Amino acid sequence: MALPVEEWRLYAARRWAALEPELRERLAAASLHDTLRLGCGLLRPEAEAAVLQRLCRRARTDKEPAAARCYREEGNRLFGRRRYGAAVKLYSQAAAHELHGSPEVSVCFANRSAALFHLGYFEVCLEDIARAESHGYPDRLLPKVLLRKAECLLCLGRLQDAADALSVVENKIAMDGIMTSPMHQTLLKKLSQLKIKIREKESCPEPAQESGSNIQRKMEIWEENDSIAGASSSLSLKFDIERGRHLVASQNILPGQSLLKEEAFVSVLCPRESFLQQDSSEAAWDSRLTNADLYCHHCLRQLLASVPCRGCSYTKYCSQNCADVAWEQYHRTECSLGALLLTLGVFCHVALRTVLLAGFAEVSRLVEWSHDGDKEPHNPEARCKHLNEAPAGIRGIPGCNENGQYQSSYRAVFNLLPHTEKHSPEHKFMCMLSVVAICKQLQEAGLEAAVLNQESSEDWSKPKTCEKSSGELSPELKTMAEAMLRHVLQLQCNAQAITVMQESGSRDGAVVNNEPVRLATAFFPVLSLLNHSCCPNTSVSFSGTAATVRASQPIPRGQEIFHCYGPHQCRMRVAERQQLLGQYFFECHCQACLDELESGVKSVVTLRNSFCCPSCQAPVQGEDMLCCSNEACAISVSRESLSRRLRDLQQQMKKALGVLRDGKADQAIKMLLKCQMDAGNFLSPEHLLMGEMEDHLAQVYATLGKWQEAARHLERSIEIVEMHHGPSSIEIGQELFKLAQILFNGFAVSEALSTIERAEEILSVHCGPQSTQIQELQEMKTCLSELPKSILQRT
Ligand SMILES: [Zn+2]
Ligand SMILES: [Zn+2]
Ligand SMILES: [Zn+2]
Ligand SMILES: [Zn+2]
Repeated sequence: MALPVEEWRLYAARRWAALEPELRERLAAASLHDTLRLGCGLLRPEAEAAVLQRLCRRARTDKEPAAARCYREEGNRLFGRRRYGAAVKLYSQAAAHELHGSPEVSVCFANRSAALFHLGYFEVCLEDIARAESHGYPDRLLPKVLLRKAECLLCLGRLQDAADALSVVENKIAMDGIMTSPMHQTLLKKLSQLKIKIREKESCPEPAQESGSNIQRKMEIWEENDSIAGASSSLSLKFDIERGRHLVASQNILPGQSLLKEEAFVSVLCPRESFLQQDSSEAAWDSRLTNADLYCHHCLRQLLASVPCRGCSYTKYCSQNCADVAWEQYHRTECSLGALLLTLGVFCHVALRTVLLAGFAEVSRLVEWSHDGDKEPHNPEARCKHLNEAPAGIRGIPGCNENGQYQSSYRAVFNLLPHTEKHSPEHKFMCMLSVVAICKQLQEAGLEAAVLNQESSEDWSKPKTCEKSSGELSPELKTMAEAMLRHVLQLQCNAQAITVMQESGSRDGAVVNNEPVRLATAFFPVLSLLNHSCCPNTSVSFSGTAATVRASQPIPRGQEIFHCYGPHQCRMRVAERQQLLGQYFFECHCQACLDELESGVKSVVTLRNSFCCPSCQAPVQGEDMLCCSNEACAISVSRESLSRRLRDLQQQMKKALGVLRDGKADQAIKMLLKCQMDAGNFLSPEHLLMGEMEDHLAQVYATLGKWQEAARHLERSIEIVEMHHGPSSIEIGQELFKLAQILFNGFAVSEALSTIERAEEILSVHCGPQSTQIQELQEMKTCLSELPKSILQRT
């Protein structure tokens, strides 16, 4: 997903293998500038274009009115069955596929407004009605929609507006002449009913709602750093050869304290993994929803009624404002390249958007500047010496401006390490081919002037086709390509995933299961200053495109601030972690790694995710052959056979969850209990899977409303999670959040209150006091405290 699709990678590998050895050597040692200059000469534009054209056919990003009709009909069917939520989604899909400005789009919006009305989203419904009107909704159908508008306004308590809207409908009906059709009869009936409703409401106004919620929120203490944008004043920026740039606590820091608050410099929504895997030509229109349908492509907010891009069917926004801003800043250039960007992967897409946001002037200034440094590319000491000569403070640390300030700017992004000499030459070659392919297409689509900011935005609607289509890239586009190549290489170490907690599992349960899902890939130049540790002292959370880093434990003055790039000591053994970290070109020397590697401390993962003797359940020892530690038993069994048994067990669990999704809870319980019995025979009681099974059982009992059983199972799951991740980990916070919901639903008031308190304490450290989960916990607390005494005494 981050990299181009497999076929393109294989094509690049074949091209690389076919190069003269001497040329390969030159490319291997070349700077970015030379890689690009050499590479452009090697291209076979027709060959590459043919391969890409074939691959791009799989990623459908064009508008297809035939698909729109399918989606709309399916939407109507679901609407008829009162499945309004699903209907909204299908009408959105339909709107995305209708041609911009066609009357059909307005029908999609009007239909969607009806579904939104039934769901009670009156404000959004009004927006859709306005959209339908402005997109040329057929005149003869207008009265029905205008009546809905009046009804919405009535529901929102805007009586005068509702009355005004009604008189518009009346005039319209009067002007259209006498009507006798049944539809008009119903309209007239509805009209008179609404009039009565308005009069009733006017005569007895509802008591005004108390303003402001009574939920008290803790205010965070936040003082911004003078020299690092978005960082807390309790941090300072340091530099040394071994650790590079890094952040250190300049005073004692408390758990939960915010350390960084940064808006992404650039972010690109990730499509789902399988987006390109389906073979498209005959496949039925896919109505499965992906991240690309669920989140705004500009601000990453969750979508309810999306605004489609005017040019493509792929890109959707939360509002016209996001659509306009995105168009102005980058999408007018990206829109027609949709399929190519999906084919070449998110890193290439982020690289392109980065240079578009930075603008040609800034890009070319920094590219020029970097050529001065290329003269001694293999001599980091020379650069450091230069740094040491710099005036005191952080002035001179790469990425800082003339005033010694580090900002979330293009300069800071540009200065993230590309590790040019550490990537394999073959990989660099593939990245080079990819960015050049993008620049070629920009040139052929007549978008070059747009990329170079040489035209005003009005000229953008119809891109001119370029005459010299087979021509070489212009020097300006080569500069852009060089910067893009740099960004693609940087992303390997510096890409930050934006994750959100997404509800998973069956929706009907009263207990929400939250799972982190990767939503977008982004550059956060300030966040990138943090080094990795497998036992980090911070937690990162996201809201839209903004990241917040909080201390997850007390950090004494002078200690370095760490963040975990992925491999955490609780999830992987040291060998696996080191392998994964290899992609960032470094060997981890964090405390957890040192302990495991040098002091021979066994990994928490090994200790807890271990097997037991299948005969007597005593602990087993050994590597490939496992021997029972109980002398009386003395059974030995191969690790391979137990691993196979474990895989079978996981398959069985998957089946049980499938059965649960089909609504057969009783059967699912039976299957899970059987899995549990089986697991107890060969897994150690602390095995993470034992906890997972308890968690699933809790979930099933919750769907049946058996709250006590659910709580009992979840408490056991919590014990195991705590052993693996520690008592104040985010994982424990999530489990306690679930337990709180179960106890709340079961009216176990005092237990619920104490669980809410624990969950609140842990989650506010990791996600901050403003997170939605904390708000939900506080609402539960308010609700419990308002329960009548009679219920409280019963429990
Ligand atoms: Zn948005
Ligand atoms: Zn578009
Ligand atoms: Zn480590
Ligand atoms: Zn035994």
